[in-house]
Amino acid sequence: MNFGNISSSVDLVSFSNAEEPTTVLFYQGCNFGCGYCHNSNLWHAEDDTLTEKGLNAVLSTARSRWVKLVNVSGGEPTEQFGNLWDLTGYLKQQGFKVKLDTNGSHPEVLETLLEYALVDYAAMDIKGTLAQYPEITGFSDVEKIRNSIELVQFMGNQGFGYEFRTTAVPGIHGESEIREIGEMLRGSRRYAIQQFRPDLDGGCLNPQFCKKESYPGETLREFAEVVKDDFETVIVRARD
Ligand code: SF4
Repeated sequence: MNFGNISSSVDLVSFSNAEEPTTVLFYQGCNFGCGYCHNSNLWHAEDDTLTEKGLNAVLSTARSRWVKLVNVSGGEPTEQFGNLWDLTGYLKQQGFKVKLDTNGSHPEVLETLLEYALVDYAAMDIKGTLAQYPEITGFSDVEKIRNSIELVQFMGNQGFGYEFRTTAVPGIHGESEIREIGEMLRGSRRYAIQQFRPDLDGGCLNPQFCKKESYPGETLREFAEVVKDDFETVIVRARD
C-alpha cells in the first residue's frame, strides 16, 4: 500500500500545537500559493511516496519514543483524499491518534474524515479575512473556507479537538484584520496567532516575503488582547 506524496517525517519530543510528543508526516503539494509559506520545499508534489513498509518504520520509531499522536501536515493533505483516507485509517488501526493540519479548502474531505472518526484533532489555518483569501492564497472559493469553519466549529461542539490559527504577517495582517477574523470565528474554542518566521530553513514561496521582518511577540500579544473575548482561549506562538 502507498500513502501518497509524503516527503519526510520528523519525530518531535514536544510539539507545541498538539502539546504532546508527536510524529509529523508532511504531504507534498498544495493548492494555495501563500507568498510567506515557509514550507515552500513541500509546495510541489514530487514522485516519492510513503509505502506501508516506510510508514511502519516511522511508527515503530514513534512507539519506541512513546509517541501516540501522528500529525498529518503539509503542503495540503486534503488534496490527496484517497491517500489521506488510507493513511488516517491505517494510523487509527495501528492505535495512533491523528491530528490533521488543513487550509480548509476541502470541507467535503474534512467532513468524511470526521464522520468516520479518522481524525481526533484538526488545526485549520485562517489565512486572513475572507475578502483577503484570493490575494493571499490565490484561492477564491471562500464558501469552502466558510463551510470548513462551520464544520470544525460544529464538530468541536460534539467534543472533537480543534484550533484555528493565523500566521500574522506584517503588511497583510494588522489589528483590523485580526479583529475581523475574531468576529468571523466568534464563539470558537481556541485561536492561535503565530509569528511569521522568514528565517526558517524552508525559505518563502515568494522570496520577497523573506525580506520582511517578523512582528515582535509583543505585537502578537496585543493582537491576542483584541480578540480574547471571541474565543475560550487565545494563544500566541512567538520566539520572543
Ligand atoms: S502556507 Fe499556504 S502555500 Fe504553504 S502549505 Fe500552507 S496553505 Fe499551502
